[in-house]
Amino acid sequence: MAPVERDLDAAAFLACKQGLLINGERVSAASGETFVTLNPSNGEPLADVASAGAADVDRAVRSSRRAFESGVWRTKMTPRDRVNALLRLCTLLEEKREEMAQLEALDGGKPVSNARNDDLPISTNYLRYSATMADKIVGETRPVSVPNVLSYTVREPVGVCGAIIPWNYPLMMAVWKVGPALAAGNSLVLKPAEQTPLTALRLGELALEAGIPPGVLNVIPGIGEVAGAALALHPDVDKIAFTGSTSVGQEIVRAASGNLKRVSLELGGKSPHIIFADGDVSTAIDHASAGIFYNQGQDCTAGSRVFVERSAYDQVASGIVGRARAMRIGDTMDLATEQGPLITAEHRERVASFVDEAASDGLDVIAGGSRVAGHGFFYEPTVLGPISNLARIAQEEIFGPVVVLIPFDGEDDAVLQSNQSRYGLAAGFWTRDLNRALRVASRLRAGRIWINGWGYGDATTPFGGFKMSGWGRENGREVFDMYTEVKNVWMRFYDS
Ligand code: ADP
Repeated sequence: MAPVERDLDAAAFLACKQGLLINGERVSAASGETFVTLNPSNGEPLADVASAGAADVDRAVRSSRRAFESGVWRTKMTPRDRVNALLRLCTLLEEKREEMAQLEALDGGKPVSNARNDDLPISTNYLRYSATMADKIVGETRPVSVPNVLSYTVREPVGVCGAIIPWNYPLMMAVWKVGPALAAGNSLVLKPAEQTPLTALRLGELALEAGIPPGVLNVIPGIGEVAGAALALHPDVDKIAFTGSTSVGQEIVRAASGNLKRVSLELGGKSPHIIFADGDVSTAIDHASAGIFYNQGQDCTAGSRVFVERSAYDQVASGIVGRARAMRIGDTMDLATEQGPLITAEHRERVASFVDEAASDGLDVIAGGSRVAGHGFFYEPTVLGPISNLARIAQEEIFGPVVVLIPFDGEDDAVLQSNQSRYGLAAGFWTRDLNRALRVASRLRAGRIWINGWGYGDATTPFGGFKMSGWGRENGREVFDMYTEVKNVWMRFYDS
């Protein structure tokens, strides 16, 4: 046991009752209601947080509308001013990285070493990329076949945006929305997941400190079916950006239809990780293990279906089983911990029910498969195989540390089975054959493809799904299309 030294600022933040952050102020919910966010490592209450209802959502939207219409951020500050304000927010995040990492680890069930080494620097990098794009969102002139006119496009902010984000990467998902929305000049109402509201609230406070005007970013923790639903339905929200489950994504689309909000969705996945026997199989085993067990498998791009060419099957199965059994499970504030708890007791039950059902259907659970005794919401890294791609456990997104191993015979079989899914977020494969690499990359139906590696991402690369994995792309320059409207202007001029 190597417990981390507690950060005093994080402790001070946790000691406060957390309000909603609307128009630059911490306020209670109109109803006075609160909810408790738990520490998944021990099931104990971590903080009491104001719970936004429809009236609070309305208050936040009005505040964001006022900020937008006043031009305080979009026109009175220049694009370069916005770059600088967002970069100041990055600097503050860097200064507060230990506080933020500990809040993330405590609230989100992440090993603190991951929160420190991954979540914080990666989130700050994403935000820095968006910050520096604020003065690079450009239009074009168009070569129209009409005499004596100048026809050009400009990209203008959409207006008041709503963002509804999940609990698996609370800070990162917040900056994926806050960065591009604010860089493009929008106002944003951010609803963090009720399981993990803390770092989003802290981010909102730091944004004010960085000089982002009140109302430009409002943060309203609340229950999904209440606060999230009200935000998706609100007639004065121009765009909603959602990351979460496919079923809630479908509800968001229905709710958004009332005023035809712009909608971007980053939803579920059941990503295929294909190991061809001609690839670097031993490295593939490492990546396939990390690709499912990192973040307890609570990752939309988790490589939850590992397809293995039959001749390499035994080697891969024993390799992944070995990695699963070796993972050190423990409290997130222990530096030695490699795998933390699942986010809630209910989520652990859901994960366990998939495995229990598969086991009772006679499928082979070859590692893990059990809850870890104690107060936290721990679940063993679990491997099933060999199984069919058509089994329920191979088709449904589990969002936990559960991987299924599926043997295949040849390239066509691998591609066919991989694409046999209603999702299409990510896919990856291992091969040393260049022709195969290009062929398979073009045949896989997913928004991100990894060849000879798994899990890479960068602020500069577009991310999003085919099929039921979503609409639109985040990151890259593509994300700025999600937060802007194109305006085409025609101006006639006179011959002298
Ligand atoms: P999970 O099932 O993994 O918790 P969800 O898709 O339910 O993922 O949650 C992602 C986000 O969507 C959270 O912020 C949650 O509060 C919110 N949410 C849940 N249900 C709804 C809903 N009906 N309308 C709007 N937002 C919702």
